Amino acid sequence: MDVPAVADPGTERGEGALIQCPYCDSEAMHKLAQILLPGLAAVCVDGTTGDPFRSPSAVAVDLRKEMVDYITQRSDSFIADALIESEANQDAPGAEVPDDPFETVSVFMDDFASTKRNIIGHVSGWLLTDSRDDKIDDFVQEMEATKFWPLERREAVAELLLKNVDLKTRFHCPEKYENEERLEDHKAQCSFRPVACANDGCRAKVSVRCVKDHDAACVYKLLQCEQGCDKRLLRRDMDRHCVTVCPMRPMKCPFGCDSSFPDRDLERHCAEFLQPHLLMVLKAIHKKGRSEQDLKDLAQKLEKFDGDGKLAKALDARPLTNVVKDLEAKMKGGQSS
Ligand SMILES: [Zn+2]
Ligand SMILES: [Zn+2]
Ligand SMILES: [Zn+2]
Ligand SMILES: [Zn+2]
Repeated sequence: MDVPAVADPGTERGEGALIQCPYCDSEAMHKLAQILLPGLAAVCVDGTTGDPFRSPSAVAVDLRKEMVDYITQRSDSFIADALIESEANQDAPGAEVPDDPFETVSVFMDDFASTKRNIIGHVSGWLLTDSRDDKIDDFVQEMEATKFWPLERREAVAELLLKNVDLKTRFHCPEKYENEERLEDHKAQCSFRPVACANDGCRAKVSVRCVKDHDAACVYKLLQCEQGCDKRLLRRDMDRHCVTVCPMRPMKCPFGCDSSFPDRDLERHCAEFLQPHLLMVLKAIHKKGRSEQDLKDLAQKLEKFDGDGKLAKALDARPLTNVVKDLEAKMKGGQSS
């Protein structure tokens, strides 16, 4: 006996099966892929805390598979679930279709996590402790270091999830075509189509519509130094450059005179502020028995006596002290001879 043909709910009368454009928003996919790793880490940590015989890494392979299966299944039935819910809530205005894919997937992951918590996870406020956060962070880093779940593979999962839960099609292309040829024409100009990032060294494929956002954060982007020196550097090297070698990095006067200036101006500052610096050093050398005015006079004398300009070239208290002592000895020698 033949089974009567049932109309496929996905195809409407008069149309053949439509082929959907496969492209989705690269940044959203990336962001979703990013939350999968800490999500898995939390499940592994919560499931093994207090268990001396199992570590998070011992359960990671199994839990990864289980988690991916679980959240994928939840995402598959998401549209149907959302429809049922919105019908049930018809009389309740304000009940909306959930439209944040990241929140939706987070809820799936939380639901999965709650089924995996061991007894410790349920008692004593464990979920709110700092040591739990630390353990999760550590395990995320460990998984990143060992490439346990590489970004590309997480992105493949994220892409599937995104298409399933992005009901308002903000993050994936909604276009459908009746044949491959039409689809190909569309793909060539689809705003979700991936293009290679233009920055040297970056291997990211980025949706055309996301190019600007990606470029604004791409670590391979070449930028002018933020502190205004004449160097151009990769974004990823900027912070280190600015605090270690940039000639414009702010520094405090090594003599402690309350001035601060770009590192490259140290010499100029030491020349301009020689008198106050000298006075500080002289106060330290001649601890007692000299009035402020005496020391000021002495500082001026020393500067006049210093024909080679050695004082102004001393860039810190210790070398300046040495030059001063040297000059004072010479001045005394000059007087006695
Ligand atoms: Zn498209
Ligand atoms: Zn890039
Ligand atoms: Zn710089
Ligand atoms: Zn100074």
